[in-house]
Amino acid sequence: MSAGERRASAEPRAAAGAGATDAPASSVAAPAVRAVSLARAYPMGGEQVRAVRGVTFDVADGEYVAVVGPSGCGKSTLLNLLGVIDRPTAGSVAVRGRDVSAMNDREATRFRLHNVGFVFQRFYLMPTLSARENVELPMAEAGVSRADRQARARELLRYVGLEARERHRPSQLSGGEQQRVAIARALANRPTLLLADEPTGELDARTGAEIIALFERLNADGTTIVVVTHDEELARAARRVIHMKDGEIVRDETC
Ligand code: ADP
Ligand code: MG
Repeated sequence: MSAGERRASAEPRAAAGAGATDAPASSVAAPAVRAVSLARAYPMGGEQVRAVRGVTFDVADGEYVAVVGPSGCGKSTLLNLLGVIDRPTAGSVAVRGRDVSAMNDREATRFRLHNVGFVFQRFYLMPTLSARENVELPMAEAGVSRADRQARARELLRYVGLEARERHRPSQLSGGEQQRVAIARALANRPTLLLADEPTGELDARTGAEIIALFERLNADGTTIVVVTHDEELARAARRVIHMKDGEIVRDETC
């Protein structure tokens, strides 16, 4: 198979078919992300931990953005707000023109399933399922037929270079392979937005480099990516770097 064919068949949002059960509730003109005075405070024993303190920014469709900054500056909190895992205490966030800040848990779960792919530092694969079954899981939740989700899972495992590992369980895979399965899973329902929190944090430099190359290929194929990272190599690969400190954006540079 040529690179062109692989791109055409696995491009996360392009092909119709498996997974296309729910049109993203969005307008094409809207940015992938719009955060306005976005804030999250955690109540802690009568005090407030102000983890994110009113940040305003857009992420355009097709952008690749890294978010960097010292430990505890609010990177994960911000990413969880963009990914509708958490809700803000002030301000708003819209994903593809859809205000996600006020969603209840049920709406958020459904929105996430179809619109946001999340990749974590620790992979979080289901240990009892094979690589292919892990990738199928979000499609099963979305009601995709068995045949369609198997075909799509195989296509995605091929895209991340793991077609020969589809029957392996997570414990039979290396860390880098597990992360590639997790990335394939995140793409299963053709999300608008791929979010990753320290995706190379558990990996050695060489394996991390494979993940960085995969993200670059995904972005070149049209996926909008926001990645939180300590990894300078990973941040360098992004076209834009947002620097955070004490819950605020202190620098936003496009390279
Ligand atoms: P980073 O990802 O940049 O290391 P986080 O977003 O995880 O930072 O955390 C930002 C701040 O919010 C930290 O001071 C952290 O201790 C605090 N924090 C994070 N999650 C919670 C929580 N669930 N309850 C209380 N404080 C929290
Ligand atoms: Mg973090």
